[in-house]
Amino acid sequence: MADDLHILFLPFLSPGHMIPMVDLARLFAGRGIKATVVTTTGNVPLLKPTVDLANTDASLRHTIQLLPLRLPCSEAGIPEGYENLAAFPNPDDLFQLTAATDRLEPSFSLLLKTHRPDCVVVDFFYPWATRVAQEASVPSLLFDGCNFFSSAVVDIVIDGELNQGDLETERLIEVPGIPQKIHLKLSNLPYVVLHPNEFSHRVVESLHRIHGTVVNSFYELERDYVDRAPNSRDHRFWFVGPVSLQNRGMDMKMVRGSSGAASGSADHFLSWLETKRPRSVLYVCFGSVARFTATQLREIARGLDASDRPFIWVVGKAGEISEWLPEGFENRVVGGGKGMLVQGWAPQLLILNHEAVGGFVTHCGWNSCLEAIAAGVPVITWPLFAEQFLNEKLLVNVHRMGISIGVISYGNKAEERTMVNSEQLKEAVDELMGSGEEAEERRKRARELGETARRAIEEGGSSHQAMTCLIEELIRLKTVGLNRDNGDEKK
Ligand code: UDP
Repeated sequence: MADDLHILFLPFLSPGHMIPMVDLARLFAGRGIKATVVTTTGNVPLLKPTVDLANTDASLRHTIQLLPLRLPCSEAGIPEGYENLAAFPNPDDLFQLTAATDRLEPSFSLLLKTHRPDCVVVDFFYPWATRVAQEASVPSLLFDGCNFFSSAVVDIVIDGELNQGDLETERLIEVPGIPQKIHLKLSNLPYVVLHPNEFSHRVVESLHRIHGTVVNSFYELERDYVDRAPNSRDHRFWFVGPVSLQNRGMDMKMVRGSSGAASGSADHFLSWLETKRPRSVLYVCFGSVARFTATQLREIARGLDASDRPFIWVVGKAGEISEWLPEGFENRVVGGGKGMLVQGWAPQLLILNHEAVGGFVTHCGWNSCLEAIAAGVPVITWPLFAEQFLNEKLLVNVHRMGISIGVISYGNKAEERTMVNSEQLKEAVDELMGSGEEAEERRKRARELGETARRAIEEGGSSHQAMTCLIEELIRLKTVGLNRDNGDEKK
């Protein structure tokens, strides 16, 4: 019985990992499974408003619990309170944070002994968690926050190129053996793929202990790649997304991922959006951890100013705006009602799903990509780091619902990246938001993909069915026990 199951969720400490994991916990709770999200004390304020509001949803058959652990910051040499990647200056400060999260192992181990869950859903960045779970005879599932396509392409490219001993990172290569024509530079692959380190070796090793992977995606989106993947008896994938679609009400869309301190109320955003024509507004947001140079921010401002379209631009933690915003921009562009600047956290789901929004400039973090897909909104892709250049290919080359802005250099740090000038941005915006035949076709494809995404999570849809299979598997594992689950018993 699903009602007898208890699952612990252990998301990595960054918004892009915690937000979808909470959505996933919610999905399980909606199916009658007891769900507990484990985080650190410093991250409770970020998750609590979302979890508290989710728990008021009458359709949840179990409330979601939050369980905090103490993160030993000072022991790991990071400042107290730096408990989230978003607090660090650059995404590649990741390894400073993992030095601290590695120290969660003993308290997580104790937690497993105390709570004796039936399964743990762990993040990629906790390579120790699958070992601790195995020692406690608890099955673990991976939730890495990425799609299937990006890892399939990485595998193909790395196998081929490394086998030939030819790692020329700036050469443009065509990815062999896939249905679409995709060209990429090896230097655009995730940094650790090309420069494996001690931590990434531990991650790879930890994957041998997982029972399978839960993917925040839906089968129809990646069919070409899923169907051609070699079958593995030991490693299964369940495509259960888009998990963001769990947030149905306006209040959930508003509060998701914020500490209750989104920059402005729902009314503030809605009343502005409601003054705009359907599909006329461009939404610009680069996720939760990326930073830009002042020069790049100024070029974005100029590009948005030069384009005719109204926009909402999430500048996030871009420092003192007076230091980079072109003179007069605030009075003329913001004050004149053409644009809205969000300094801090924006309710992305609320904005993307508003009928006034017709385009999204995205850094191609997987959550943002999938949220755009689910909302049926076409995109301008501006990848920065991690697997974002691959996500760009999925949106632009495979599903043709986006335009690439033309970034060619990967960079964790703002100053390492390709500079995009204001004309490039204006041109891409005009093309995306314009009324030409191609733009209409792109909009249509995005809309249809959104409809497919929404159907996938409804009863009978592919993601809904995958959840059912996954729950059945967890019930089976609970019955037979992980240690007695030999190869013959696996389906
Ligand atoms: N997000 C948001 N408001 C913001 C910035 C980000 O709601 O102002 C959410 C966004 O909807 C997504 C997540 O934060 O769910 C960011 O994840 P993504 O994978 O897109 O990028 P990352 O932040 O990991 O680079």
